[in-house]
Amino acid sequence: MDTADRSRTAIALFSGGLDSILACRLMMAQGITVKAVRFVTPFFGYDLLAQEEDYRREVAAEFGIDVQLRDLSGKYLPMLRDPAHGYGKNFNPCVDCKILIVSEARLMMEELGASFMISGEVLGQRPMSQRRDTLRVIEKASGCEGILLRPLSALNLPETIPEQEGVVDRGRLLAFSGRTRQPQIALTASFQIDDFPTPAGGCMLTDPNRAARVRRFYEENETVAPADLLLLMIGRQFGLPDGGWLVLGRDENENKSLTGLLRRGDIFLWCEESWPGPSAVLRRSEGQRDLEAAAGLIKRYSKKGEGRKRALVCWQKVGDEKQAELQVEPLADQDFQNWQF
Ligand code: SF4
Repeated sequence: MDTADRSRTAIALFSGGLDSILACRLMMAQGITVKAVRFVTPFFGYDLLAQEEDYRREVAAEFGIDVQLRDLSGKYLPMLRDPAHGYGKNFNPCVDCKILIVSEARLMMEELGASFMISGEVLGQRPMSQRRDTLRVIEKASGCEGILLRPLSALNLPETIPEQEGVVDRGRLLAFSGRTRQPQIALTASFQIDDFPTPAGGCMLTDPNRAARVRRFYEENETVAPADLLLLMIGRQFGLPDGGWLVLGRDENENKSLTGLLRRGDIFLWCEESWPGPSAVLRRSEGQRDLEAAAGLIKRYSKKGEGRKRALVCWQKVGDEKQAELQVEPLADQDFQNWQF
């Protein structure tokens, strides 16, 4: 790639939300080549890794954007234990999350042949990470001063190098600010975008229940792996008396998802076919007592009625050939009230 191409190529920090889509399209409308990168962790976007090609095709077809995924877990999970700028309302380390993402994108600039980066951030839209002073902190800490352009809010912010050098026409950038979504929605019409994602962000660390689970998991475990976090994000969670960790599906979808999260050594439990009930994953347990407690919980949450007491709970250890059954009573609520988290 020659220097001219490089100067007109930007990496986009792509969240999949409307703001990042619009930021890309604004740049593309100026003839800038945009290489979008969506960073994922077990807390946001992780399921896309299993279908990356489909996802890339979809984004290209719907929005004309060239996007790739990067798994940031290796750096993100240790950062989450002690983020330098603290947490938001829940266990969300937004400032450090942004610093990490921007730093990582900066490291990719050479590889992708880009001279600057863009993001869909809007001044004042989020209380913690999109304040004017925080945007500066993020730029400084990531070593990206002058090369991180926020097209939607650029006119409220100092000129960046690509604007100063005339690579990007500042006159065609915008001055969005605050929490209103109206300007963004109005802009979708000029890019013929009629089907766009809702602005939830989808980060599980901002969800109070999940965030509390993750915080507790970090407090109780010195090492944290993506596979554990994925299991932590779904279902009913129980810490069993002999140290086992049980996750029970709450509906058909979660029961199905649990099968995709199994690791060697886990025990998978489910109700016999004739009696509907939840499936479950039992992790970190070898004891018979935990296995029976798990089966009792499955019976507790299985369909009530004639025949429940007799129904069998089937189980199989991942990696073992054989399947076995247990006949246990449903647990009473007072038996497990201290197990749930
Ligand atoms: S909400 Fe989640 S993904 Fe977004 S900046 Fe905060 S920690 Fe990062």
